[in-house]
Amino acid sequence: MNTPFPSNSLVDMRSDTVTRPTPEMLEAMMIADVGDDVFGDDPTVNRLQSTVADLLGKEAALYVPSGTMGNQLALRAQTRPGDQIVLEDGAHIYRYEAGAPAALCGLLVTCVETPDGLLDWTRVEAALNPDNVHCAPPGMVSLENTHNRAGGRILPQKDVQEISDQVHARGVRVHLDGARLWHAHVATGLTLAELAAPVDSVSVCFSKALGAPVGSMLAADRATIAQAHRFRKMWGGGMRQAGILAAACLYALDHNLARLAEDHEHARVLAAGLDHPALKVNHPVDTNIVIIDVEGPGQDEALLGHLENSGVLGVGFGPGRVRLVPHLEHSDADIGHAVEALNSFAGDRS
Ligand SMILES: *Cc1c(COP(=O)(O)O)cnc(C)c1O
Repeated sequence: MNTPFPSNSLVDMRSDTVTRPTPEMLEAMMIADVGDDVFGDDPTVNRLQSTVADLLGKEAALYVPSGTMGNQLALRAQTRPGDQIVLEDGAHIYRYEAGAPAALCGLLVTCVETPDGLLDWTRVEAALNPDNVHCAPPGMVSLENTHNRAGGRILPQKDVQEISDQVHARGVRVHLDGARLWHAHVATGLTLAELAAPVDSVSVCFSKALGAPVGSMLAADRATIAQAHRFRKMWGGGMRQAGILAAACLYALDHNLARLAEDHEHARVLAAGLDHPALKVNHPVDTNIVIIDVEGPGQDEALLGHLENSGVLGVGFGPGRVRLVPHLEHSDADIGHAVEALNSFAGDRS
């Protein structure tokens, strides 16, 4: 059971990363059995790594400080500088990881535009470079499930399978950015292992809707994880008594996974309650992310200001787009409050 969160006068929907540890989670952290994880001695980190490797159906897993590090380790461990990586245009790895595919991995990025964030094999095939001395050799295709910038969309598993099968037949690796794979699991009923089965490597985040303060995981075959482990040290990600953090992740898996269905319902209610001529949700709300398209120049900023004055926080998500993310700190009343705040937006007049 979770103790109620300390009251927060704001309904903070900027991201599911703002979730704070509960007293019960802090208790689990305090009593964690720890050791020096750079020596491989931390029993709690080791337990988390083997638990999550099993959950994702992979041979091994590595605990890392952030989702960005998990993704970039996957790229660095499975490609060579000068290789091509193919990604959907809105992918977190391309948009929001500070240029790391270029700076840390030396990859040539090819982005594929899609109307809805959902890659399919036809589009990937057209983007993969030919085997030709003029071209960067394809080294990796990376998928994102759920797709953040597309509004928490779930990739159809048949497309994940087809892309992976075809890409593997060309000797190219497939990575899955599964920062919110938990949500795809809860929404579809497919197991995490089924969702990750077609791909070579998968990253997951504990620091988002699962409510842990810090931490992500990369899972893959043993050889890939051994490579990633070296680069984690090189990049300064080797942590010592990290079991304190890993204990929060284990707690989150036990207590906060199944409840994601509530966040999905809250997102659905939020989108369905929107009744405003200038505000529209133009994507299916598959999981916990709602992106509101705001009509009119500068009106996205005006909406964010109006929401803040009403005690609701969102984030700008590109021109004319505002993102709201319900999470475990929100009650039904908070969602109702956010709907009222949205519908009372006066637009140009505010
Ligand atoms: C949040 C997120 C990440 C990782 O973010 P960090 O802040 O580095 O933990 C990776 N991919 C997606 C899709 C995300 O939403």
